[in-house]
Amino acid sequence: MKQPIPQEFDTPTYRDVLSQFDAAAEWFCLDTNIWKRLRLPQRALCVTMPIRMDNGDVHVFQGFRVQHDSSLGPTKGGVRYHPGVNLGEVAALAMNMTWKCALVGLPYGGAKGGIGCNPKSMSRRELQRLTRRYTAEIFPLIGPDHDIPAPDVGTNEQVMAWMMDTYSQQRGYAVPGVVTGKPICIGGSLGREEATGRGVVYVAIEAMKHLGISIEGATAAVQGFGNVGSIAARFLSETGIKVIGVSDSTCGIYNSRGLDIQDVIAYKKDRHTLEGYPDGEMISNEELLELECTILVPSALSGQITEDNAGRLRCRMVVEGANNPTTREGDEVLKEMGIFVVPDILANSGGVIVSYFEWVQDLQKYFWKEREINERLQEIIITAFNRVIRFSVSENIVMRRASMSIAIKRLADAHLARGLYP
Ligand code: NAD
Repeated sequence: MKQPIPQEFDTPTYRDVLSQFDAAAEWFCLDTNIWKRLRLPQRALCVTMPIRMDNGDVHVFQGFRVQHDSSLGPTKGGVRYHPGVNLGEVAALAMNMTWKCALVGLPYGGAKGGIGCNPKSMSRRELQRLTRRYTAEIFPLIGPDHDIPAPDVGTNEQVMAWMMDTYSQQRGYAVPGVVTGKPICIGGSLGREEATGRGVVYVAIEAMKHLGISIEGATAAVQGFGNVGSIAARFLSETGIKVIGVSDSTCGIYNSRGLDIQDVIAYKKDRHTLEGYPDGEMISNEELLELECTILVPSALSGQITEDNAGRLRCRMVVEGANNPTTREGDEVLKEMGIFVVPDILANSGGVIVSYFEWVQDLQKYFWKEREINERLQEIIITAFNRVIRFSVSENIVMRRASMSIAIKRLADAHLARGLYP
């Protein structure tokens, strides 16, 4: 498909996500009309928000909400607070959410939101004002039957609580199902906070079984020590895999004997950084990615594994905790090197799977036990993993292509069944 990308979406992340889709669509011989449609988001809203800062100044922030495709149901996707947020990146992440939901069989399309801001340098009161104003601005687009936000980089359950409250105030009654990843006391789900990291570990273990690698002697390195990275590291070490390196935006830490992850989590919680952690050697983020290990789990931002560093990776497999951590060129290098990649739309789908459970519980007003949630998560994600493996082996294609093809097939069926309006 040689159609130009509209200027407003044309960013490196959008090009990466689109090129993966184009390659899979071409291989799959996707109907050209559906192909053209899915290359672009269905709706994109840009908003500006004047916010009174604590020092009395007014700062105007820019935010976005993009809905990629609603053919399978309401749209679903996180909200990112980061200085680098732009429309093209949000649109790319929304597109990725469409593939992810379709791949694991959820009744959702993909969406994403974000605000260009640095939450680390803002006070709680500033963040609350910004979140409430953002929610008010995107109010026409969201709702339990329309589009359901969730946390992503730089946002957390508190931000979701403010979003839920702002939306509910406008409606005049409590609407817990408008967001997921909120605190349990207002309709959040048990197990949601750990869900993405837990899912990453479930698929990592399945991948090891597939490759015939035993847990004994296996090692892991995890980039990013936020929600996804710290929890994945915790579950990996609880499973018996030695986590030899972790990193955050400030630095990385390495210990060949294995890090005590609970201790690292406590240190990070206390100091808000990994810098200065006593039981490990300080390393750079680049060095962390290049550690010799069994499993590398990138769990930070997009575009971390590129054509420049992919050739220096010394892991047996990459399990993509983050969204789009590997560029198109980086992916080609990994393929040539024979590194097994569990793609983001499969590896980190645990978050949206348990978000789906949270939404179902909110709509039913009936809440499940944590054991039930974890078991259902495991069943869905492992079933999806095995489907992808079977397809990948039978067609002799890599896991990313197989995952994308399964997702595209489900979307194509839905689009063809529904037809065009008007
Ligand atoms: P988070 O804000 O909780 O954590 C991000 C972490 O990355 C932080 O530790 C930060 O210090 C670190 N980081 C930032 N820049 C870095 C860099 N250059 N090098 C190393 N570390 C860096 O965010 P999160 O929710 O854990 O999300 C991480 C990734 O996982 C994102 O790509 C997100 O889209 C994806 N994801 C998150 C969820 C979820 O449920 N939270 C679900 C699916 C995918």
